Formats: sequence, C-alpha cells, structure tokens
Amino acid sequence: MEVIGYAARGADTPLAPYSFERRALRPNDVAIDILYCGVCHSDLHMARNDWGMTGYPIIPGHEIVGRVTAVGSDVTRVQAGDVVAVGCMVDSCQRCDQCRKGEEQLCREGMTMTYGSPDRNTGEITQGGYSKHVVVRQEFVLRVPEGLDLSRAAPLLCAGITTYSPLRAAAVGPGSRVGIVGLGGLGHMAVKLASGLGAHVTVLSRSPDKMADARALGADALLVSTDEQAMAAAQSSFDLIIDTVPVRHDLNAYLPLLDVDGTLVIVGQVGPVGELMTPPMLFGRRRIAGSLIGGIAETQELLDFCGRKNILPDCEMIRIEQINEAFERMVRSDVRYRFVIDMSSLTAASD
Ligand code: NAP
Ligand code: ZN
Repeated sequence: MEVIGYAARGADTPLAPYSFERRALRPNDVAIDILYCGVCHSDLHMARNDWGMTGYPIIPGHEIVGRVTAVGSDVTRVQAGDVVAVGCMVDSCQRCDQCRKGEEQLCREGMTMTYGSPDRNTGEITQGGYSKHVVVRQEFVLRVPEGLDLSRAAPLLCAGITTYSPLRAAAVGPGSRVGIVGLGGLGHMAVKLASGLGAHVTVLSRSPDKMADARALGADALLVSTDEQAMAAAQSSFDLIIDTVPVRHDLNAYLPLLDVDGTLVIVGQVGPVGELMTPPMLFGRRRIAGSLIGGIAETQELLDFCGRKNILPDCEMIRIEQINEAFERMVRSDVRYRFVIDMSSLTAASD
C-alpha cells in the first residue's frame, strides 16, 4: 500500500512529504489509520542524527493513536473499527527470557523500533507515525480504554510509559518522595503519573516560571536547579529522581538530593555525562540507573491506569506542516507540554 508521510532526508534538512510502501498484511498484522501522533524529543534526535545511527529517509513518530482498518486472518485481539495505539516498538523475538517476561524493549535480539529498524522478516526499514497508515503485528497493538480523549492519548505511548515504568519499578506510592528533572514532555507526564500514584512530587527545573504549571500538573513543589541554596537545603530528601534532560548535563548536582538507597533514573540523555563524583554514591548508598520505555503489558497497564484516573498529557495540537517549527520550539524548551499532530492535516497538506 502506498502511504504518505513526513520524512527527514538528511540530518540538516527539514521534514517534508514523502511517499512510500507499507507492507501487505501478514496473517498476524493489523492495519491502522493514524488519527494522532505525538512529537517526542527522540523523533528530533533521530531526524537530526544526534545519536549517529540514523538512516535516511526517516519518518519519525512513535506515539500513535489510530483506528483499525483491516486485520490479517490470524488476528484475534482487535477488529476493524477499534481504536488502538502503537508505541516505540513494533516487534521483538518473542522467545527470549526478556520477551517472555513482558520486557520486549529489552529483547536479547534487540527490539524492532517503530521507525528506523530493519523489519525482522524482510529487512525493510520501519517508518513511523508521521504518516497516514501503519501496519503492526497484533502483539504490539495496544487497546485505548473507552472514554479517554483520543486527541490527547498519543503521548502516553512514549512519554507516559517511559516515566511510568521507573515509577512502578521503584514501587512508588503514597509516602514516596519523587523528584522530576526537566519539565518537558516526559517530565510533565512523570509529574502527573507520580502524583496519580500518590507520591509527593517535586519538579527540578531551570525555569522558575514553570512554578504555576508544575503545581497545576500535580506537583507539590518546584526546586530551581540553579538555586544553590535551595539545592543544598534539599539534600537527602528524595527516594527517586527521574532525569529527563535530553542533553549532556551535570549529574553531580542531583545525586546528593537522594536519601540513603535512593535512585537517580536517567531516561533522557544518551551518551557521556561528564565527570561523575562517587562520594554521594558511597556515603549514602545512592544509585544511578537507566530505563528504556516499558514492555507491552506494562504499557497496557499504564493506558488502563490513565483511563481509570483520567490522566492525560497537556497537548498543543499542530498540523503536519508545522512539524519543523515544532522541532525548533522543542529545542528551545518552548513546549507546554507535548505537541500532537492531527493526522487529518496530512491529507490536506499533501493535496
Ligand atoms: P522535551 O519535551 O524537550 O523536554 C526536555 C526538558 O528537559 C525541557 O523541557 C527542559 O525542562 C529540560 N532541558 C532541556 N534542555 C536542558 C538543558 N540544556 N539543561 C537542563 N535541562 C534541560 O523532551 P522529551 O520528549 O521529554 O524527551 C526528553 C529526553 O528523553 C530526550 O532525550 C528523549 O530522547 C528521551 N527519551 C527517552 C526515552 C527512554 O525510553 N529512555 C523515551 C522517550 C524519550 P526545564 O525547562 O524544566 O528545565
Ligand atoms: Zn519517544
């Protein structure tokens, strides 16, 4: 099937319309008409080859909400007309210990990412959700709970699960003291989810003007990370800190804020973090960890949790032609708090 999308053709070129072929349905496949796609900072990193692994052309987009248009003969989980969602991965080996545990993102053979990965059968490179349609095997298709506002649900598929997973791994609940570094797409979801789980939540931001927003999102406090006095006063006061900052930054400022046995989970930056001082880790048994999205079962759990609690991201809806401007604004941290592309604009834009 010929499909239209918006692709980057090189690290320095803006995204532009691009036609390509989606595979014909395999027996286990679901064809989805994309309604909304969230704009993740990872889309920008990949489009601009920040991680040195991008092949072109690339159609980003891994926060997908859409409607099923057709299913293969073996599909039992969904049917035409259902509202479904697809996140950051579309396949994995399904056999290794991690896949069997429901941690497909940690598949021993490597997961197949929604865009920029070779398909496990054909080697053809996957293309993401800044497009009209997508074809995905049924095991990677999520159900969107009834009643959830579809125009705002897409960011749960990456920003949501990436912050929910470390919160759940740390068994966050009432009484937990959680800090969130960086109030962007991931950060604002982390605030809503940690608060929804009953934690005491503090935003650590460079931007004092985000105070009112932080509170409106459900945070109990905001700590300005450049205020040395306030940072010193907050020593040993967190059980968990989730760091969503997308660029190289100094972790030494955050480690002492953890209490004994506390963990700093990095979900943002990929790459070297600079010189790390170990005393806070030794003299306080503090840990640094990382986390990558979450498994399919946990993503469904998150969607159902958000459905029950009506937790949704704060979105700014854009048309597909605004994607390059949205990327620029994201670089300037000028997003409150997630861009979502209304995919009905794609037909119009390409007419
Ligand atoms: P985003 O919306 O751009 O938010 C990032 C936030 O980080 C900004 O709003 C800003 O908050 C803060 N920040 C930005 N530049 C900074 C700097 N130079 N120093 C300190 N803080 C800075 O990005 P996002 O979509 O949330 O993604 C964040 C990162 O997570 C990206 O690198 C993305 O690739 C990664 N990611 C990882 C996973 C995973 O599975 N681990 C999944 C999705 C995304 P303040 O203004 O409040 O300081
Ligand atoms: Zn993402």
